[in-house]
Formats: sequence, structure tokens, C-alpha cells
Amino acid sequence: MNIAHWLLRIARVGGGEPALFKGAEMVADYAGFARAAEGLARALVEDGLSPGDRVGLFMKNGPEYLIVYYGVWLAGGAVVPINAKLHPKEAAWILADSGASRAFVTPDLGPDLGAETEVPLTDVTGPAFTQMTEADPLPLVARAEDDLAWLFYTSGTTGKPKGVQITHGMITATSLCYPLDVDPVTAEDAAFYAAPMSHGAGIYAPIHVRMGAQHICPADGGFDPDEVLSLSESHGSTSMFLAPTMVRRLTDAAKAAGHRAAGIKTIVYGGGPMYLADIEEAVDWFGPKFVQIYGQGECPMAITALSRAEVADRSHPNWRARLASVGRAQSQVEVVIGDADGAPLPPGEIGEIMVRGAPVMPGYWNAPEATAKTLKDGWLMTGDIGVMDADGYLTLQDRSKDVIISGGSNIYPREVEEVLLHHDSVHEVSVVGRPSEEWGEDVVAFVVPAPGAKMDPGLLDTFCRENIARFKRPKAYFALPELPKNNYGKVLKTELRKQLTEET
Ligand code: AMP
Repeated sequence: MNIAHWLLRIARVGGGEPALFKGAEMVADYAGFARAAEGLARALVEDGLSPGDRVGLFMKNGPEYLIVYYGVWLAGGAVVPINAKLHPKEAAWILADSGASRAFVTPDLGPDLGAETEVPLTDVTGPAFTQMTEADPLPLVARAEDDLAWLFYTSGTTGKPKGVQITHGMITATSLCYPLDVDPVTAEDAAFYAAPMSHGAGIYAPIHVRMGAQHICPADGGFDPDEVLSLSESHGSTSMFLAPTMVRRLTDAAKAAGHRAAGIKTIVYGGGPMYLADIEEAVDWFGPKFVQIYGQGECPMAITALSRAEVADRSHPNWRARLASVGRAQSQVEVVIGDADGAPLPPGEIGEIMVRGAPVMPGYWNAPEATAKTLKDGWLMTGDIGVMDADGYLTLQDRSKDVIISGGSNIYPREVEEVLLHHDSVHEVSVVGRPSEEWGEDVVAFVVPAPGAKMDPGLLDTFCRENIARFKRPKAYFALPELPKNNYGKVLKTELRKQLTEET
């Protein structure tokens, strides 16, 4: 099934219902949304697009993002959404790697990309785009479950990004997991695209289209916590995906404004580690609105979920342990912990997280070697290290490459970070290994002090002694004004390790 079928289905009977919003302003109902996408599909096909052809998007969030997704899908093509924060050279590299025949851009990003690529670009705010959307509607081009719908370029904290092939079947599977494992959706709800639509937030669009919900894009296309609060209040019943750093910023802004965000129905968080201190504070302030998901491009948004009740129910005897976990397997996957050979391990043992099921990718784009390393005997080797308890709750330790081995003992940086974050003087922290002749590696911590506080290594060391085993304590502390992060807010531990080798 072509995933765009859901748009035509809702437009037929709910065409007059509101669909696309830019800020507070409605720009299309479902009939208008479908009409624009069908017109775009015709224009693309007349311009030479064949089934399976790739079309790039280098755009800020906006309603046109969804029109392009559906226009390309209706025409049988595949989208290649590129993170708007990437350098134009990186975006041009992705266009070339994907073999995109054309790309859609917003005016803030188009000219710089145009200087780096020969691929024809169309500005979605210009008359040429409007004309395309006004072409005669094209009937939907049939697509099968395993046909390509989306090439998702991994954020890549090291090396060049790889294109994950996301098929129509994978999007269907992930979409069905949403009401089963994350949150039910109705036509009264609104998806708020606070996080980049090139990533997980965009993967959640189809289920909201299927249910006839509304789609709200920020007025200027970026994440502004105050706008999220005010638009959620005026609109009501909004749901959004936020990376952990965005949850932190939203909590800070809401507290500063004394805003309890009654208009927000659900915040789905994930994509990186959420510290306990941060989620506890967020739930204290906003109430039971939070659901956690764990996924990766290779199995988008669909590995595990921790439900609203599990996040919020402090009366449960295992509440804190479960809050520190990423929940249980979503409904379309099996999740197991494997040893170095991929053999399943019993509950309580640490190993690599392996996933099998309908939302798992068939492979990377034009990268058979990387695919062979990642897909083994039908299992996706996630590269994440974790442990599962007897009830099936999965707790992530770290990426395998981030584990520190000191004096023969494995130390999971996350555990040390969780402790240090509970100290009042610490705003953010990242723990990495530093090469050591004596121990193999030493634990060291990079600390961003809390506003007005100074980092005091002696105090932090005492605090660690009181809370964790001695061998896990950092041997050195470095204060930084901020941590190096990639475009999705993930801390770049490789950069921190580089700083250490440059210093010694
Ligand atoms: P990406 O493919 O860029 O979305 O990155 C996926 C990676 O982010 C996963 O392999 C995990 O290492 C990490 N990740 C995703 N969700 C979570 C989560 N809920 N908690 C901790 N780490 C996560």
C-alpha cells in the first residue's frame, strides 16, 4: 500500500476538516491539502519523475513539507528530507549520494544549497511551486510494502551519514504502533511539528493524517518554547515529539512564564538519553503528559515505548527503575539482548540490543558492507548496549563505542552522568574515557556549571563517593561553557575525546 492512500481516504469524507496550519493561521483543509499534493504529483510525473525516483527536501518546518511528502508519494517517488541545520555542502553531498533528481527548498536555505549543487531546486514559497500544486490531480501511483518511500540520512556522530531505506511498509508499521504503544489519536488532536520534520516528527505525520488530526507548524519553522506553549494553549490537544534537550528548554521556559501547558496533550520524548532529573522535573511541572520512545533511523521511532502511566505513576514499586528504562518492545517488533555473537542473553545481562520486525529497514542505500554489518540473520544490530529485566523493560547503557573500560571494568558513562546531574552546581555533564597507561582508560567528566555556580572538583568527587562505586568516579573534571552537540542536540563525545588528546 502506498502510504499516501491515507490522505486520499480522509480527504474524501473529511475534506472540510482543518488540516494544515502555519502558526495560528489555517492554510488548508484536508480537501485543499490533498488537492495540492495530487497536483504536485502530476507536475512531478510530467517533469519526468518515475516510480522510485528520489526527491530532496532542504526546508525549515512548514505546511509545504507535508505537501511535498504526499505529492512525491502519490507520484510513486521517495523523499529525501535533509536536516535544515546541515551545512549546504553536507546537504549537497546527501543529494548526490541519494541520486535525487530535484529538491524543494525554503528561501532561507535554497541559495546557499544552489551554490553547491547542480540538482534543480524549487522554492516552495514561489510561484513555480504554487503552479505545480494547481496541476490536474494525478491518480495515486501504486506502491508495494517494500518500495522505497523515504531515504533517511542518519545524524552520524562520526563519519559520513548513511541513507536508511524506509519503505511504505515500514511507515505503515511504525504508524500503527503509535496508537497501540504511544498515544491514541483522534480528529480533535493536533500534531505540533516542534522538532525537525526531516526526522521523527515527520515520521509521525502519516498516523495523524490517517486520523484526520490537524498539523501545526511553527510560524518561523524553528523550535521556540514560548510559541509551543502559546499555540498549544490557543489550539488545544496538541501532541509533539521532542528531543530530551527540547524538553529541558520547554520546562525552563514554562517555569519562567508560570505556564502549565494545559493545551498540550502529549509530549513524546526520545532520540537520545533523557536524564532522570529532567523528566522528573518535567512531569512535576506539566503532569502526566509524557511518553518515551526509543528508536533509530534503522527502525524509526518503533523499538520500545514507555507509556504515560509508566512515566507518571510514582506509586508503582518499580517506578524509578522503569522511568530510567526506555520501556518495552513496541507491537511490531521483537527486541532481545545479544552477546558478541548475537546469541540471546537471559534477563539482567548486558549486551547489544537486537531488533526484528516490520519497521526494520531492508538495508542502507548503496552501502552493502554497512548493511551486512548491521543486519545479521534477520536481526537489526542497533549498536546500542542495554539490559532487559524479567518483565521486558529495556534499559539503555550507552553506545558500544562510548563504554569506558578502566582497569578491566566496564563503566557506563550514563550512570556517572546521572549522579553528577543531581548535584546543584551541575547544569549539563558528559563523561568520556581518556587513554591511560595504567588503567587502559580513565573516567573524566566535562561539566557545564549551573547558572551562577562554579565547578568544584573536590565537591563533585565527594558527591560521587557518596553515590557510586569508587572505580566509576571521574579522575578529572573540566568545566565548559557548553557541550559540543550535533544538529539534533546529541552530545558529540568524539569531540570531547579529541579535546582530551589535544590537551595531553
Ligand atoms: P538516530 O538514528 O539519529 O535517530 O539515532 C538513534 C540513536 O539515538 C539510538 O541508536 C540510541 O543510541 C539513541 N536513542 C534513541 N532513542 C533513545 C532513548 N529514548 N533513550 C536513549 N537513547 C536513545
